[in-house]
Amino acid sequence: MRVRTLILLLFLLAVASPAAAELAVPADFQVMGVVTRADHQHYRDVPFDVPAGVERITVILSYDKANKTVIDMGVRDPMAFRGWSGGTRDRFTISPSDASPGYLAGAIPAGRWRVVLGVPNARAGSRSTYTVSVFFDRGKKRKATAAIAGPPLNDAPGWYRGDLHMHDANSDGSCLSQSGKRVPCPLFRTVEAAARAGLDFVAVTDHNTVAHFGALRELQPWFDRLLLIPGVEVTTFGGHANIFAPSHVVDFRVGGKQVPTVAALERKVAEAGAIMSINHPALPSGELCMGCGWTWPATDYAGITAIEAVNGTMAEGPLAGIGFWYARLNEGHRLTGIGGSDNHDPDMSPGKAPIGRPTTVVHAESLSTSAIIDGIRGGNVFIDVDGSRDRLLELQAVSGTASAAMGQTLPLSGSLELKVHVVGMSGGNIQVIANGSPLGALRAPVTMADQWSSFALDRAMACGWISATVLAGGHPKLIGNPIYIRCA
Ligand SMILES: [Zn+2]
Ligand SMILES: [Zn+2]
Repeated sequence: MRVRTLILLLFLLAVASPAAAELAVPADFQVMGVVTRADHQHYRDVPFDVPAGVERITVILSYDKANKTVIDMGVRDPMAFRGWSGGTRDRFTISPSDASPGYLAGAIPAGRWRVVLGVPNARAGSRSTYTVSVFFDRGKKRKATAAIAGPPLNDAPGWYRGDLHMHDANSDGSCLSQSGKRVPCPLFRTVEAAARAGLDFVAVTDHNTVAHFGALRELQPWFDRLLLIPGVEVTTFGGHANIFAPSHVVDFRVGGKQVPTVAALERKVAEAGAIMSINHPALPSGELCMGCGWTWPATDYAGITAIEAVNGTMAEGPLAGIGFWYARLNEGHRLTGIGGSDNHDPDMSPGKAPIGRPTTVVHAESLSTSAIIDGIRGGNVFIDVDGSRDRLLELQAVSGTASAAMGQTLPLSGSLELKVHVVGMSGGNIQVIANGSPLGALRAPVTMADQWSSFALDRAMACGWISATVLAGGHPKLIGNPIYIRCA
């Protein structure tokens, strides 16, 4: 029996099982077995050893379901029972922050764990082979990520619309209860409001906690048209920054012994596989709004991906983040401008921004967490200030035979042309921006629902970065990201 198991194991190592192929990575542990009538209404343990430092365990069970064989699944850690999914699911995941429904999130102790298999039915004469595959996430090796987020909600490359900043009961979000009392607002109400706003993705960013990640995991399968990105608003005494899709909680105590500087925070964010965006940098600080503005001196921007240029309704004036963002671009940093509603009440208290206002529109390879994050990194992104469902702003800079979209670099050779594609802004105006300043002569009315305009730029003005804003009634409505112009 033991030899046969070994041969089967060697066979499996040579030929990846369908479950393992789905993850596109080899399992850290895999075992195959057979269920026969002898297992009918019996339990069987599949032990596996977890080394120290594992941050997440994902288990996939696949088996031959012919002849009505059913195999239930659960798991024990070295000390305690951690969950059961019966015959309902073929996989589960457990980490300190979150777990599949039916499983307990919590510390991952090293030692001997056991997948518990139960067999409620195996007919006489039946023979069902099964494979248990175990995947470990640790350090920068995040094998199980694909199983956690699932496949993309949409495989097509394109523009995806989302809100990257909001709060719920897991921090300071609140709404009115059944009887009209203000109470911590359950996460599902926030996500429902985002779905009603027609968004493709949201990042839920509670302050300094990952306690909401488990609930997101429960909600995601039902919200199969709305990508839920786990986020955290890292809230420090000298400013706030959103981090998107960290694999674990990140110590936020900047200025303390554990995280002496913002650069140290950036390293911890990178270790967690996340990207970082400075929030509402131009808000006041002090007793009026404690730690709201970005006041950390000598910030190292190398580990920062984005700036929240528009927070809620603040798209212009001294409180908007645009001036701060443009100033950093002028210093030579490459930072994507994004927006976020910072919604704290999905029922929208008067004067506050509803979920989806503003919307950040990201060109991404697919609708998945990794693709949206890559899209933000890439910078082909614009901010839709009113959170329309259909407005579009595309930029293409052309010089000689080279061309570049937002977020890209264009080497200048001879003349420079900026092509601007605007949808849904009839009656507005396109304003070309160079190095943070609107170019007075380069402004054109939008007369069509779907319009391409072209601008010739002066070489001296264009070196650095260029962009465009679309205004209506004098107010910015679509805010583009930079195209970086490299002059020899
Ligand atoms: Zn904040
Ligand atoms: Zn916030």
